[in-house]
Amino acid sequence: MNKFNVYPRPDYCSASEEKFYLNGKVKLVGGSFDSAEKALYCELWSRFTFSLSELIIEDGAENELVIGAPEKIVCAEHAYSVHIDEKGVYLKGKNKTELIHAFTTLLQLVYSEGTLKAEKAYVFHGDYGATAKVDVRAIHFCLFPNVGLDFLKQFIRAMGMYRYSHFVLEFWGTYRYECFPALGWEENSYSKEQILPLIKEANALGMEVIPFFNHLGHSAQSKVGSGEHVVLSQHPEYAPLFESDGWTWCVNNPETIKILKNVRDELIELCGSGAYFHIGLDEAFSFCTCPRCRDKDKNTVLADFINATAADLKKQGRKCVMWGDQLLPAEQFKPPYEANLVPDLETSKAIKNVSKDVIIADWQYRIYEGEVETSKFFRENGFNVWQSPWHNPNNVKTHINTAIQYGNGVLLTTWNVTQPFISQLLHAAEMLWMGEEQSSHAEYMSITGNILRKLAPPVKKAGQGWLGMWELY
Ligand SMILES: [Zn+2]
Repeated sequence: MNKFNVYPRPDYCSASEEKFYLNGKVKLVGGSFDSAEKALYCELWSRFTFSLSELIIEDGAENELVIGAPEKIVCAEHAYSVHIDEKGVYLKGKNKTELIHAFTTLLQLVYSEGTLKAEKAYVFHGDYGATAKVDVRAIHFCLFPNVGLDFLKQFIRAMGMYRYSHFVLEFWGTYRYECFPALGWEENSYSKEQILPLIKEANALGMEVIPFFNHLGHSAQSKVGSGEHVVLSQHPEYAPLFESDGWTWCVNNPETIKILKNVRDELIELCGSGAYFHIGLDEAFSFCTCPRCRDKDKNTVLADFINATAADLKKQGRKCVMWGDQLLPAEQFKPPYEANLVPDLETSKAIKNVSKDVIIADWQYRIYEGEVETSKFFRENGFNVWQSPWHNPNNVKTHINTAIQYGNGVLLTTWNVTQPFISQLLHAAEMLWMGEEQSSHAEYMSITGNILRKLAPPVKKAGQGWLGMWELY
């Protein structure tokens, strides 16, 4: 644990034993926030100050926030900084997002004074400054039918506290699309009105929400082993939209192309402003196998489809992000690498014709040391790369080290595994900010628990914690 009690730890930390108290009404002046943002900051403030302090936010100078009348000292070389002295608190960010990072850092610096109960809330005088080692610090989250929105809200808030930059939201049949309602389960799915406030929370905590929709394999929005399919289980008549097994969209069907375009437009509107769209594209086990497709050249079909999708996104000012496995030659990248999982549906030759505007999210979950060779391969082929590890701590470290070495982004994946992530999400965040881990696995778990408890209302019964709220799907 670090003695400053702030995670991910800022690069520069310096504190004295002098205290600045935060009891009663505290006025925070600066920036320009809407009412939803202010409500969230005030709620978090109350929780992190043990309900001893009420925050009042007034608009003021851009990219700074002030409590009291402190000296306006900044860590000049850092993206954000926090200064606390006997007269107050000064937060500074190089932009609005970094200013929010300064605020979430301040929240973590609050201690309680008292013996039985907290009687006063305070922060030590000091200075803190940080600049992330990795610019794109993204996290992918699956909203399964059995995951409640309360958990998603707590998860988003935690990722904001860890100062992630992007949140990739994948619905597993859990969004009621207006453009094609069959893409959501009649039960266990959510409306725009239910999802939008959570997206606003992510934005308020400095994260851009990246819309996600599987454009090829995984069209079932259900696990392949479940036999379920969000469209075909409910509406078997839509079979022509897919390859014969239903797992992969048939991209030679013009109706499919229309639906995918409408889905992108609807998700872009839902997720708000941003620079990316993730089109999935992994594990397309049955790509180009139906009677409409099977005589066509798979590599040409794949490259043309990706390029047309990327061009449409570019018109909307967005870059196309895709999982990389279908573009990897299996004979070159043998296990433990994941490449083109159905060898007789070889599509790796498409890589030379895929637009270099596309960003490759290189998911490799069994590489535990050295560099991720496939990420080097994609870079050598002219692509920007996001590293995608899963839950193994050595896998996370290997990807982040590769990202730092080559200037790549990082897109963490969580999928349906819960237990490891109570430590891994903070472990990864600290590496993304500092370039190295600072604490142990057990420490990251207990620290995360302390933060999670302050992100949601108090609960009165057991079983509502991390594991209880996010059951395996
Ligand atoms: Zn087809």
